[in-house]
Amino acid sequence: MSKLGLRGRLFLSHLIVMIVGLSTLVTVGRLYSPRLFVLHLENLEIGGLNLVRVRQKLVDGFESAWSRGAFWSVIVGASAAGGLSYLVAKRITEPLIHMEQVTQKITAGHLEERLPSSEIPELNQLALSFNRMAADLEGVEQRRRELIGDLTHELRTPLTVVEGYLEGLADGTIEPSVDIYQRLARETARLRRLVNDLQELSQAEAGYLPIRSVELDLQPLLQAIVDKFSDQLLESSPVLKLDCPPDLPPVLADPERVEQVLMNLLGNALRYTQAGSITVRAWNEGKKVWIAVTDTGQGITPADLPHVFERFWRSDRSRDRASGGTGIGLAISRRLVELQGGSIDVESELGQGSTFRFCLPVI
Ligand code: ADP
Repeated sequence: MSKLGLRGRLFLSHLIVMIVGLSTLVTVGRLYSPRLFVLHLENLEIGGLNLVRVRQKLVDGFESAWSRGAFWSVIVGASAAGGLSYLVAKRITEPLIHMEQVTQKITAGHLEERLPSSEIPELNQLALSFNRMAADLEGVEQRRRELIGDLTHELRTPLTVVEGYLEGLADGTIEPSVDIYQRLARETARLRRLVNDLQELSQAEAGYLPIRSVELDLQPLLQAIVDKFSDQLLESSPVLKLDCPPDLPPVLADPERVEQVLMNLLGNALRYTQAGSITVRAWNEGKKVWIAVTDTGQGITPADLPHVFERFWRSDRSRDRASGGTGIGLAISRRLVELQGGSIDVESELGQGSTFRFCLPVI
């Protein structure tokens, strides 16, 4: 019995119900019908009909007719009910068997497999949930592949450079010089930065970055960040300005993470702005406080704009690789802002400059 599948069990249970039904019908009929017939005959005799000679024949005839009728009813009823029960069991178990086959295919790596819809509402609901889960898994798998692809690409360039220089130094085709060692140090520093950024990104994407949101007064924080940045600016650098009203309402945010986002935006603004100004502006709008970093730099083309928050994306890969960008900064910033309940966006005009702005919830 324990080896019997669902279809077998369903069929068997239908069969048992049918046998119980038919045997009750036959037993009750067998017991009562002849008696009722005899009673009927007795009533006829009381009514004046003389049945003495044919009475036994009538009773025998009735019993044999009844038995034959019952026999054929059992045969026809049992076959019809058996066939019907087989069909019902098949209809219920077929989608389940299909589901099990699809699950096995998904386990084997065919994440594009989906379940067809079923006419049984409960099974249809199960198929819908299953397909949603499969689509999620497929998305995760695709992002994982993309990440590995991007990562290999990012790691290969500095590794090739380092390998080339080291081989040249080893076989004497490159003269050792301060410049060569500095280049090697730059490439290894780039690799280290890439690994650090990556660790941060993976933690942020998985939601593992601790966010300790507190009641935060933005004005002093923005002032401190702008001061820190201004100290590092050279004579030729663009000027850095802060435009923040003193009556800004406090926000619910993690000061360290807000600083991290702003440092990234300011670092980018400085990297992509040769002259002019960089302005940090904050303002209140309903239940949010917006912080914007506006530069008068090179700007971003409309085609590139939708991609700037994607990880590893850089508008000019070779140029930015030389400038040390990894293309991860804005992806981390977006995740950090989202983890604090805000959002980030960008507006830019080629040759005019860009404005990156993000919002934080007011307490
Ligand atoms: P990176 O470490 O390369 O700066 P980001 O994720 O911070 O990585 O930025 C991604 C890309 O977006 C940059 O490589 C650059 O092409 C573009 N970008 C970011 N900020 C600016 C800006 N202020 N002006 C122009 N382009 C920018």
